[in-house]
Amino acid sequence: MSTESAVSVEISGQGREPVSGTVTAVEISDGQRLRRALRAAGVLFALGLATLPIPIIHLWLPWLFFLASLIVFARVWRRRTLVRGEAGACPRCAALVALTEQPLFWPIETNCEGCGHSLVIRPA
Ligand SMILES: [Zn+2]
Repeated sequence: MSTESAVSVEISGQGREPVSGTVTAVEISDGQRLRRALRAAGVLFALGLATLPIPIIHLWLPWLFFLASLIVFARVWRRRTLVRGEAGACPRCAALVALTEQPLFWPIETNCEGCGHSLVIRPA
């Protein structure tokens, strides 16, 4: 089970008054975190296995993939909260600022799809 909560945010663009908005923070369960981490690390592990029979590069490339899979597993496992949803209006062009699902790290930096300017989203 994941639990969703609305977080009030402030969206600021270069040289414009910040506008307020809301993002959806999704707290993911340990089971979901494990599945996500295994899926992400599994791709790299499979690539490592696939490169094992290749002469010469089998001496180093599979081990790099295996090491990378451990690092990716640890990084994805640590992500307890994701953020997604429509944050609000762009302070420059008033277009809706939509976030793709991503790990929650403040501040969130994104680009407006309407005007292309960079926006910074902070908790209000
Ligand atoms: Zn814009």
